[in-house]
Amino acid sequence: MRDPSALPALLNQLEEQHGVQRRLPPRTALDWILWENVAYLVSDKRRKAAFAALQQKTKLSAEGILALSREDLLAIAQLGGMHPANRVAKLLKIAATVQDELDGDLDSVLELPHAKARRELKRFPGIGDPGADKILLFTSTHAVPALDSNGLRVLVRLGFAREAKSYSTTYRAATAVLAPHVERGCPWLMRAHDLLRKHGQQVCKNNEPYCDACPLADVCPSAS
Ligand code: SF4
Repeated sequence: MRDPSALPALLNQLEEQHGVQRRLPPRTALDWILWENVAYLVSDKRRKAAFAALQQKTKLSAEGILALSREDLLAIAQLGGMHPANRVAKLLKIAATVQDELDGDLDSVLELPHAKARRELKRFPGIGDPGADKILLFTSTHAVPALDSNGLRVLVRLGFAREAKSYSTTYRAATAVLAPHVERGCPWLMRAHDLLRKHGQQVCKNNEPYCDACPLADVCPSAS
Protein backbone atom coordinates (compact mmCIF):
# COMPACT_ATOMS: atom_id res chain seq x y z
CA MET A 1 0.00 0.00 0.00
CA ARG A 2 1.12 3.53 -0.73
CA ASP A 3 2.34 5.53 2.25
CA PRO A 4 -0.21 8.15 3.47
CA SER A 5 2.62 10.70 3.59
CA ALA A 6 2.43 10.83 -0.23
CA LEU A 7 -1.10 12.23 -0.13
CA PRO A 8 -0.46 15.98 0.39
CA ALA A 9 1.65 16.28 -2.78
CA LEU A 10 -0.97 14.42 -4.82
CA LEU A 11 -3.69 16.70 -3.49
CA ASN A 12 -1.66 19.70 -4.64
CA GLN A 13 -1.59 18.21 -8.13
CA LEU A 14 -5.35 17.67 -8.02
CA GLU A 15 -5.86 21.27 -6.95
CA GLU A 16 -3.79 22.45 -9.89
CA GLN A 17 -6.11 20.50 -12.17
CA HIS A 18 -9.48 21.16 -10.55
CA GLY A 19 -8.86 24.50 -8.82
CA VAL A 20 -9.79 25.49 -5.28
CA GLN A 21 -13.08 23.78 -4.50
CA ARG A 22 -16.12 25.81 -3.50
CA ARG A 23 -18.00 24.64 -0.45
CA LEU A 24 -21.41 23.06 -0.92
CA PRO A 25 -24.30 25.11 0.52
CA PRO A 26 -25.03 23.26 3.82
CA ARG A 27 -23.58 24.82 6.97
CA THR A 28 -25.29 23.31 10.03
CA ALA A 29 -25.82 19.65 10.94
CA LEU A 30 -29.51 19.91 10.05
CA ASP A 31 -28.61 21.54 6.72
CA TRP A 32 -26.45 18.53 5.87
CA ILE A 33 -29.12 16.00 6.81
CA LEU A 34 -31.68 17.87 4.72
CA TRP A 35 -29.16 18.14 1.86
CA GLU A 36 -28.78 14.34 1.84
CA ASN A 37 -32.52 13.72 1.96
CA VAL A 38 -34.02 16.39 -0.27
CA ALA A 39 -32.78 14.70 -3.46
CA TYR A 40 -31.85 11.21 -4.66
CA LEU A 41 -29.39 10.13 -7.34
CA VAL A 42 -29.23 13.52 -9.05
CA SER A 43 -26.46 15.93 -10.02
CA ASP A 44 -25.17 18.51 -7.55
CA LYS A 45 -26.98 21.12 -9.65
CA ARG A 46 -30.38 19.52 -9.14
CA ARG A 47 -29.70 18.85 -5.48
CA LYS A 48 -28.78 22.51 -5.02
CA ALA A 49 -32.04 23.57 -6.67
CA ALA A 50 -34.13 21.36 -4.38
CA PHE A 51 -32.16 22.49 -1.32
CA ALA A 52 -32.55 26.15 -2.26
CA ALA A 53 -36.31 25.70 -2.63
CA LEU A 54 -36.48 24.05 0.78
CA GLN A 55 -34.42 26.87 2.25
CA GLN A 56 -36.69 29.48 0.76
CA LYS A 57 -39.87 27.86 2.07
CA THR A 58 -38.70 26.62 5.48
CA LYS A 59 -35.49 28.50 6.36
CA LEU A 60 -34.13 24.95 6.82
CA SER A 61 -35.66 24.74 10.30
CA ALA A 62 -37.55 21.80 11.78
CA GLU A 63 -40.40 24.15 12.65
CA GLY A 64 -40.54 25.48 9.10
CA ILE A 65 -40.69 22.00 7.60
CA LEU A 66 -43.45 20.86 9.95
CA ALA A 67 -45.45 24.01 9.17
CA LEU A 68 -45.28 23.56 5.39
CA SER A 69 -48.15 21.87 3.56
CA ARG A 70 -47.58 18.39 2.12
CA GLU A 71 -48.25 19.78 -1.36
CA ASP A 72 -45.46 22.33 -1.00
CA LEU A 73 -43.07 19.72 0.41
CA LEU A 74 -43.92 17.37 -2.45
CA ALA A 75 -43.27 20.11 -5.01
CA ILE A 76 -39.81 20.64 -3.48
CA ALA A 77 -39.06 16.91 -3.33
CA GLN A 78 -40.02 16.59 -7.01
CA LEU A 79 -37.13 18.89 -7.86
CA GLY A 80 -34.81 16.30 -6.34
CA GLY A 81 -35.52 13.29 -8.53
CA MET A 82 -37.43 10.04 -8.24
CA HIS A 83 -39.56 8.78 -5.33
CA PRO A 84 -40.47 12.29 -4.09
CA ALA A 85 -43.21 11.04 -1.73
CA ASN A 86 -40.61 8.94 0.13
CA ARG A 87 -38.49 12.00 0.58
CA VAL A 88 -41.40 14.03 1.93
CA ALA A 89 -41.89 11.36 4.60
CA LYS A 90 -38.18 11.48 5.43
CA LEU A 91 -38.08 15.28 5.66
CA LEU A 92 -41.05 15.21 8.05
CA LYS A 93 -39.45 12.46 10.13
CA ILE A 94 -36.20 14.43 10.37
CA ALA A 95 -38.02 17.57 11.43
CA ALA A 96 -40.15 15.71 13.99
CA THR A 97 -37.08 14.03 15.50
CA VAL A 98 -35.24 17.34 15.86
CA GLN A 99 -38.30 19.06 17.28
CA ASP A 100 -39.58 16.35 19.63
CA GLU A 101 -36.38 14.65 20.77
CA LEU A 102 -33.78 17.40 20.59
CA ASP A 103 -35.85 20.47 21.48
CA GLY A 104 -35.26 21.83 17.99
CA ASP A 105 -31.49 21.95 18.52
CA LEU A 106 -29.60 19.37 16.50
CA ASP A 107 -26.33 21.28 16.90
CA SER A 108 -26.19 20.21 20.55
CA VAL A 109 -25.31 16.74 19.24
CA LEU A 110 -22.12 18.14 17.75
CA GLU A 111 -20.79 18.91 21.22
CA LEU A 112 -20.76 15.23 22.14
CA PRO A 113 -17.57 13.15 21.89
CA HIS A 114 -16.96 11.81 18.38
CA ALA A 115 -18.37 8.27 18.81
CA LYS A 116 -21.53 9.51 20.55
CA ALA A 117 -22.07 12.34 18.07
CA ARG A 118 -21.68 9.89 15.20
CA ARG A 119 -24.23 7.54 16.79
CA GLU A 120 -26.78 10.33 17.25
CA LEU A 121 -26.40 11.56 13.67
CA LYS A 122 -26.81 8.03 12.31
CA ARG A 123 -30.35 7.96 13.70
CA PHE A 124 -31.36 10.13 10.76
CA PRO A 125 -32.35 8.73 7.35
CA GLY A 126 -29.57 8.44 4.81
CA ILE A 127 -26.82 9.05 7.37
CA GLY A 128 -24.29 6.26 7.86
CA ASP A 129 -20.70 6.49 9.05
CA PRO A 130 -19.57 8.47 5.96
CA GLY A 131 -22.46 10.94 6.26
CA ALA A 132 -21.94 11.42 10.00
CA ASP A 133 -18.20 11.99 9.53
CA LYS A 134 -18.92 14.53 6.81
CA ILE A 135 -21.28 16.46 9.07
CA LEU A 136 -18.82 16.47 11.96
CA LEU A 137 -16.02 17.64 9.67
CA PHE A 138 -17.90 20.23 7.62
CA THR A 139 -19.42 21.86 10.68
CA SER A 140 -15.80 22.23 11.87
CA THR A 141 -16.67 20.59 15.17
CA HIS A 142 -14.56 17.41 14.86
CA ALA A 143 -11.37 17.10 12.80
CA VAL A 144 -12.19 13.62 11.51
CA PRO A 145 -11.40 12.08 8.11
CA ALA A 146 -14.37 11.92 5.75
CA LEU A 147 -14.74 10.65 2.20
CA ASP A 148 -17.61 10.22 -0.20
CA SER A 149 -17.78 7.28 -2.60
CA ASN A 150 -15.87 9.21 -5.30
CA GLY A 151 -12.99 10.07 -3.01
CA LEU A 152 -12.86 6.56 -1.67
CA ARG A 153 -12.60 5.14 -5.21
CA VAL A 154 -9.73 7.50 -6.04
CA LEU A 155 -7.73 6.49 -2.96
CA VAL A 156 -8.26 2.79 -3.72
CA ARG A 157 -7.18 3.17 -7.35
CA LEU A 158 -4.12 5.15 -6.31
CA GLY A 159 -3.09 2.23 -4.12
CA PHE A 160 -3.59 3.89 -0.72
CA ALA A 161 -6.23 1.38 0.41
CA ARG A 162 -7.46 -2.04 -0.59
CA GLU A 163 -11.06 -2.58 -1.71
CA ALA A 164 -12.82 -4.99 0.66
CA LYS A 165 -16.04 -6.94 0.21
CA SER A 166 -18.02 -4.50 2.31
CA TYR A 167 -18.19 -0.76 1.72
CA SER A 168 -17.77 -0.07 5.43
CA THR A 169 -14.48 -1.98 5.59
CA THR A 170 -13.16 -0.16 2.51
CA TYR A 171 -14.32 3.13 4.03
CA ARG A 172 -12.40 2.42 7.23
CA ALA A 173 -9.27 1.55 5.26
CA ALA A 174 -9.52 4.68 3.09
CA THR A 175 -10.19 7.07 5.97
CA ALA A 176 -7.19 5.54 7.78
CA VAL A 177 -5.09 7.09 4.98
CA LEU A 178 -6.28 10.52 6.10
CA ALA A 179 -5.92 9.78 9.81
CA PRO A 180 -2.17 10.65 10.01
CA HIS A 181 -3.09 14.11 8.69
CA VAL A 182 -5.81 15.04 11.19
CA GLU A 183 -3.50 17.38 13.08
CA ARG A 184 -3.61 19.59 9.96
CA GLY A 185 -7.17 20.42 11.03
CA CYS A 186 -10.63 20.69 9.54
CA PRO A 187 -9.81 22.99 6.58
CA TRP A 188 -7.16 20.54 5.29
CA LEU A 189 -9.45 17.53 5.72
CA MET A 190 -12.32 19.37 3.99
CA ARG A 191 -10.01 20.28 1.11
CA ALA A 192 -8.93 16.63 0.79
CA HIS A 193 -12.55 15.47 0.82
CA ASP A 194 -13.58 17.98 -1.84
CA LEU A 195 -10.62 17.48 -4.18
CA LEU A 196 -10.85 13.68 -4.09
CA ARG A 197 -14.61 13.92 -4.66
CA LYS A 198 -14.20 16.24 -7.64
CA HIS A 199 -11.50 14.04 -9.15
CA GLY A 200 -13.71 10.95 -8.77
CA GLN A 201 -16.69 12.77 -10.28
CA GLN A 202 -14.93 14.27 -13.28
CA VAL A 203 -11.84 12.17 -14.10
CA CYS A 204 -11.51 8.98 -12.08
CA LYS A 205 -15.07 7.98 -12.92
CA ASN A 206 -16.62 4.77 -11.75
CA ASN A 207 -16.93 2.99 -15.08
CA GLU A 208 -14.54 4.74 -17.42
CA PRO A 209 -11.76 6.70 -15.75
CA TYR A 210 -10.14 9.30 -18.01
CA CYS A 211 -6.60 8.27 -17.20
CA ASP A 212 -5.28 10.18 -20.22
CA ALA A 213 -6.47 13.40 -18.59
CA CYS A 214 -5.31 12.52 -15.08
CA PRO A 215 -2.34 14.37 -13.56
CA LEU A 216 -1.65 11.36 -11.33
CA ALA A 217 -1.41 8.76 -14.12
CA ASP A 218 2.39 8.51 -13.82
CA VAL A 219 2.17 7.35 -10.22
CA CYS A 220 -1.14 5.46 -10.32
CA PRO A 221 -1.02 1.65 -10.28
CA SER A 222 -4.51 1.50 -11.84
CA ALA A 223 -3.80 3.82 -14.79
CA SER A 224 -4.98 2.42 -18.10
S1 SF4 B 1 -4.74 7.38 -13.44
FE1 SF4 B 1 -6.82 6.72 -13.88
S2 SF4 B 1 -7.33 5.25 -12.25
FE2 SF4 B 1 -5.53 6.43 -11.57
S3 SF4 B 1 -6.35 8.14 -10.36
FE3 SF4 B 1 -6.09 8.87 -12.46
S4 SF4 B 1 -8.09 8.52 -13.45
FE4 SF4 B 1 -8.04 7.29 -11.57
